[in-house]
Amino acid sequence: TDFGFRTVAREEKQAMVANVFHSVAAKYDVMNDLMSFGIHRIWKRFTIDCSGVRRGQRVLDLAGGTGDLAAKFSRMVGDQGQVILADINDSMLKMGREKLRDLGIVGNINYVQANAEALPFPDNYFDCITISFGLRNVTDKDKALRSMFRVLKPGGRLLVLEFSKPLLEPLSKAYDAYSFHVLPKIGELVVKDPDSYRYLAESIRMHPDQDTLKGMMDAAGFENVSYFNLTGGIVALHRGFKF
Ligand code: SAM
Repeated sequence: TDFGFRTVAREEKQAMVANVFHSVAAKYDVMNDLMSFGIHRIWKRFTIDCSGVRRGQRVLDLAGGTGDLAAKFSRMVGDQGQVILADINDSMLKMGREKLRDLGIVGNINYVQANAEALPFPDNYFDCITISFGLRNVTDKDKALRSMFRVLKPGGRLLVLEFSKPLLEPLSKAYDAYSFHVLPKIGELVVKDPDSYRYLAESIRMHPDQDTLKGMMDAAGFENVSYFNLTGGIVALHRGFKF
C-alpha cells in the first residue's frame, strides 16, 4: 500500500542518515573546513550574531553535532544560563562532548540524544533554538518545526542555518558540479566513504528553497519569518519568532 511504501522510505532515510553520521563523525570537523574552504565558520558566526542570546538564557542547539554553535552559546549565557546540545546520533554527540570538554566548556551545557521530530523537553522552555545544517537530514521537517515551536518560549526565536538555492544560475551550475563531483572525491580521500558525501550532495539538491522553507516555518506557527542569503544563496539563515 501507499502507507507501506512511505513507512519503508521513512525508515530507510533515517537509517541512511544514521550511517552517514556514524561514518563521518570522527572526521566531521576537518571535512567541514575542507569542503567549505572554512566558510562554514563565517556562516555560523553570522547565526550567532543574529541569535540575540544573552546571559542567563536557555538555548537548544538542535542537530548540534560536534557543537560549534553550542560552544559559543555556552560562553554567551554564562553560569546562570543553560545550553543543550541535542542530536539523534550518539557518535556525533560523543565527538561534540569530547571536543567541548577539551575546550574547557563544561558546567552550563548538557548533551541529549533526541530526534528533532519529537523533542523531549517541556513546552515553552527555550529562549533560542538553532538548527545548523541539520533540518535537511530530518525525515518529517514539518513535524520537527512544530516540535521546535512547542518547546520555544513566547518571545523566543528559531534560527535555521541550511543549504539553500543559489540566486544566480551560473553559481548554481558551478555549485552542482562541485557538490556532485568534488565532494564525493574529498569524501573518498579523507573518510574513505564517497557514498556519504554523495548523500550530502543529493540532500542539498532536495532541500526546500528559501521561500518554501519560510512557508513551512509560517505553517508551523512562527511569526515574522525572514531569511538572509549567505554566499549567494548557497546557504540561507531563516529566523522566526514565537509570540
Ligand atoms: N550543527 C552541526 C554543524 O552545523 O556543524 C552539525 C550538522 S551535521 C551536518 C547534521 C547533524 O544532524 C548530524 O549530527 C546528525 O546526526 C543530526 N541529525 C540528523 N537527523 C536528525 C534528527 N532527526 N534529529 C536530530 N538530529 C539529527
